[in-house]
Amino acid sequence: MSIYDLTIDELTDYFINNNDKKYYATELFSWLYDKNKRITSFDEATNLKKETREKLKNDFVISNIEIVTVESAKDVRKYLFKLNDNEHIEAVLMNHDYGNSLCISSQVGCNMGCKFCESGRRKKVRNLTTGEMVEQILKVEDESNLRISHVVIMGIGEPFDNYDNICNFIKIINHSKGLNIGARHITVSTCGLVPKILDFANFPYQVNLAISLHAPNDELRKEIMPIAKAYPLKDLMNAIKIYLEKTNRRVTFEYIMLNGVNDSIDNALELANLLKGINAYVNLIPYNETEALQFKRSNPLTIAKFYDILKKNNITVTIRREFGGTISAACGQLRSKKEDI
Ligand code: SAH
Repeated sequence: MSIYDLTIDELTDYFINNNDKKYYATELFSWLYDKNKRITSFDEATNLKKETREKLKNDFVISNIEIVTVESAKDVRKYLFKLNDNEHIEAVLMNHDYGNSLCISSQVGCNMGCKFCESGRRKKVRNLTTGEMVEQILKVEDESNLRISHVVIMGIGEPFDNYDNICNFIKIINHSKGLNIGARHITVSTCGLVPKILDFANFPYQVNLAISLHAPNDELRKEIMPIAKAYPLKDLMNAIKIYLEKTNRRVTFEYIMLNGVNDSIDNALELANLLKGINAYVNLIPYNETEALQFKRSNPLTIAKFYDILKKNNITVTIRREFGGTISAACGQLRSKKEDI
């Protein structure tokens, strides 16, 4: 197992169980995550006693993933990683005016089957471990020489289908002795796994929740997102209302603009109606076209009209800035290219 799998509480338990010093957990966290330390061997953790270092070497590995390729364009770098079972995942670094944001993967493949999504063309092989998610950040910081200030879990995979590891991942990267990334700078995006949204309402970190909505009614949503068959909009919206009540936060709704599919004036009105009275923020996303799928992006005028209708109906809305269209930055594209499927 990787040392990056462990939260500071788990590491504390580990040292206590070994009759070692409890404060070693804080020391080791700092060796692993402090920008000036980031050890690659337990031997470098010089203030832990020798036997402890030997035991750590027996019980854990440090690194489990490696960067295979980096593609870059203006304000964006896209990373392809190889895992130690030879699977591939991706992460995308975006430079914003407010900081550097990393979009990370949460699974190898994905079982959600969204019709427009490149990642979903490959079924889930396995969940990523907590450590494999933490390491995406560490490796990118190392390669780019930048500090990641924001993390979005919007790469390959459905994070709420890997719920426990996602929660531990958040605990580690948010911890002041970990990567110290502010909870409000962390966003989890889900296609709408209702029971997990309800669980997440009780997760005591002020992270952001984004819902991949993409359709304003069940009929259309079922056509493009099979998950809508398991959790219809009524249940999804109910869960979101409960989440909002418990957390006092705002929820982001992602809406990909697909030409002739979900971008009509009626769709906009229906969406405005669905979100009326909810503390919602709508992100209209120009679709990233991909070779293997037939969907096309809406034209800019249609997107502008859609935006105006939401605005007029008092919905907070933005159109997502685009990054990296020329370098296969749509999630899943780099992996597909590499594995030729
Ligand atoms: N499974 C999670 C997170 C990963 S997908 C989820 O569904 O939210 C992250 C976001 O990218 C989702 O909103 C997804 O619908 C969207 N997406 C997938 N393919 C896309 C594409 N080709 N262009 C633009 N957005 C895409």
